Amino acid sequence: MELSIVVPCYNEEESLGALHERVSAAAKAAPVQSYEIILVNDGSKDQTLSIMKALCEKDPHVVALNLSRNHGHQLALSAGLGEAKGEWIFVLDADLQDPPELLTPMLERAREGGIDVVYGQRAVRQGETWFKLFSAKAFYRTLSFLSETEIPENVGDFRLMSRRVLNQLLMMPEQQRFIRGMIAWIGFKQEAFLYERDARFAGVTKYPFMRLISFAIDAISSFSIRPLRIAIPFAVFGAFLAALLGVGALYSHFTDGTITGWTSLACIITFFASLQLICIALIGEYVGRMYIEVKRRPLYIIADITHKPARIQAVEAAADKAATKQATPAKTRAKTAEKKG
Ligand code: UDP
Ligand code: MG
Repeated sequence: MELSIVVPCYNEEESLGALHERVSAAAKAAPVQSYEIILVNDGSKDQTLSIMKALCEKDPHVVALNLSRNHGHQLALSAGLGEAKGEWIFVLDADLQDPPELLTPMLERAREGGIDVVYGQRAVRQGETWFKLFSAKAFYRTLSFLSETEIPENVGDFRLMSRRVLNQLLMMPEQQRFIRGMIAWIGFKQEAFLYERDARFAGVTKYPFMRLISFAIDAISSFSIRPLRIAIPFAVFGAFLAALLGVGALYSHFTDGTITGWTSLACIITFFASLQLICIALIGEYVGRMYIEVKRRPLYIIADITHKPARIQAVEAAADKAATKQATPAKTRAKTAEKKG
C-alpha cells in the first residue's frame, strides 16, 4: 500500500459524500499506485456510519473503522493511524476545511526534498469567528512560551507523513494526545506547506468552547512541566513581601507600641491563600494526568471494521512481503536499498 488517507469523522453525514468524491479524485490524480481511505466513525449519532458502510460497498478503497463510542478527535485519529497500511499517510478533517487536492503537491514536495512530514500551515482561515482566531493565537503563543518542543503556529493535523514517522508515533503510548505536537517532537525533516483553510463544507464545529479549553490544557500539560514551576516566582515574591511586612511590623511595635492593620492582614492572608490554591490546583492537574496515564487503558476501542475483501488480500500480501524482507540477509537488503536509491 503506497498511500493511506485517514479521516476522523463525528456527525459528518452531510460532508461524507463530497469528501469521498474529492478525496478519491485527489488520490487517483496523485503519483501513487495504490491507496486506501480510512474513515473513522467516532461514535457519531447521525447517519455517518451507514453512509461510510455504503461507501465501502461501492468503493474497495474505503475502510470504515467504527469506534465503540465517541473518543474525541485525537483518539479517533490515532485509531485511524493505527490501521493505516500505507508508506505515506495523509491526514485531513472530514469537513473539507483542508483541501484534499493538496495531496499531490504535498507528496511531490516530500519526495523531492526527502521530507518526512509536510504539514499544512494556515495562511488564511475562512469562515472562523474572530473569537476562534483570537483564542487560537493566544493558545499558540502560550504553548510556544511554555513548551520545550517547538510546535509550529497555525498548524492543525492536516499533513502528509512518512511511514517511519508514523511508526514512531504509534510507539508513543500517552493517553492525552496532542498529535501535531507529538509529531513535531519526533523530528526528522519537517516542512510547512502554506494553504488557505476553507470554511466548513457543512454542519457545525465539533469543538465547542469547553472542548477547546480542555484540548489546550491537554496540549500544554503534555508538552511542558513549566506551569509547575510557577510556585517558584510566587515563593520569591512572597518571601520578599514577608520581609518588608516584618520590618514594618517591628518598626510600628517599637515606635508606638501598637500594631494596627486588620484590613491589610485580611488582604495578605486571602492573597497568599489563593496563590497556594493556584499551585495546588496545578499540581492536582498533573497528578490527575499521571493517574490517567498509569492506568494504561487502551487508547480506543474498535467496534468493527468494514471493507471489501480485496483489502484483506492486499494487507496479507504486504505482510508476506515484510516477512520475506526480514528473511532476506541484511547484505542483500542493503544492496537492494542501494539500487532503489
Ligand atoms: N471529530 C471527531 N471526534 C470528535 C470531534 C471531532 O472525530 O469528538 C472530527 C470531526 O468530524 C472533523 C475533525 O475531527 O473531521 C475536526 O473537527 P472540527 O472540524 O469540528 O474542528 P474545527 O475544524 O472546528 O477545529
Ligand atoms: Mg473543521
